[in-house]
Amino acid sequence: MLSQRLLARTLGVDARSVRVESVELVDDHIVIRLRPRIRHRWRCPHCAERCPGYDAGRERRWRAIDWGRSKVFVVATVPRVECADHGVVVASVPFARHAARHTRAFEQLAAWCGVEMSASAASRLLRCTWRTIGSIVARVAEGLSDEELLVGLRRIGIDEISYRKHHRYLLVVVDHDRRRLVHAVKGANLETLGAFFDRLGEDGREQITHVSCDGAPWINAAVADHCPHAIICLDTFHVVTWAAEALDRVRRETWNEVRVHRPRHVHRKPRGAGKVLKDARFALWKNPENWSDQDRARLDYIAATHPRLHRAWALKEGLRTAVTGHGPGAVVALDRWIAWAQRSRIPSFTELARKIRNHRAAIIATIEVGLTNALVESFNTKIRLIARRAFGFHHVGALIALARLTLSGQRPHLPT
Ligand SMILES: [Zn+2]
Repeated sequence: MLSQRLLARTLGVDARSVRVESVELVDDHIVIRLRPRIRHRWRCPHCAERCPGYDAGRERRWRAIDWGRSKVFVVATVPRVECADHGVVVASVPFARHAARHTRAFEQLAAWCGVEMSASAASRLLRCTWRTIGSIVARVAEGLSDEELLVGLRRIGIDEISYRKHHRYLLVVVDHDRRRLVHAVKGANLETLGAFFDRLGEDGREQITHVSCDGAPWINAAVADHCPHAIICLDTFHVVTWAAEALDRVRRETWNEVRVHRPRHVHRKPRGAGKVLKDARFALWKNPENWSDQDRARLDYIAATHPRLHRAWALKEGLRTAVTGHGPGAVVALDRWIAWAQRSRIPSFTELARKIRNHRAAIIATIEVGLTNALVESFNTKIRLIARRAFGFHHVGALIALARLTLSGQRPHLPT
């Protein structure tokens, strides 16, 4: 007979809480029959109180971590109990969460895989669907304590991140000082943000000194309402995005001008100047330090043939340099940029100059406080990547759970 301790250990449970009654091979699966020890029987899963039995219950089955090539299932007969506070419920078991179909150790492993691996690698390794991993991730994230994340917040960033088409947004709050995600919920609007500030409590709200955001009026309104003393900073990441959008409008205008000179039915694929403009799209977006030789050649071509587009590109780069700078020099650079863009006679940029002028105080606050772009930008990128992976979960709850497990400093550990 195999040792009780050894068997309990492979299942990730304490041998003092369960008795292994049998181990069998059934259709290539290993089936381990367990019986919770007397101290652990007839307990309510919600309050852990010992309760009178309601019935003998029935046999239940949980998936456990594989033994080599074999799937392992734990089987136990679990009674229902009658809790004074929670009514008739299935009694708790020491090796799995309430209403789970996998053991705690399996869930811990699945959460780790969900965070660390690609969806296909995780589901092949664990031999279960990505959707199952999604619901396990959500369950493990539910067990995290969020309250600790909210203690001592001073400088926060508020962002709205679209996770699917058709304007579906997450409200995301980051802690600039501890560089972690502290809050993520479905729906980015005045109400959800108000609920976050309510969670902080009066003391928590008073401690907030700076709030960085994308300048959306509803965020400004909520901050003015709940933290009137906090200084609003504009994330320079968003400012650079605005400039990139303005540049793209100019690129499209230029491209359309080139296309007009060519009969539509002759060639569907852009050629010549049109092709270069189309291919230059990414070079125009990239920071020059990341250019390839080909990108550089495209920009040279644009400088020679489309001076207006080249000027628009220089304006975008100028704004990026100004807002990512530091100290008084950066403020001067910003004001010069506004004057330059106003004179540019490129409508997208004169319009942008007006927008920047309206947000000037918030941009200068960001430069002066030294809030870097990097945190909000990297969280924005990471959540978009997570959203793409979490797409297979078919549920926004799983996306939020994965984001919290990955970015709030509470990454799951492997079961030990
Ligand atoms: Zn109870």
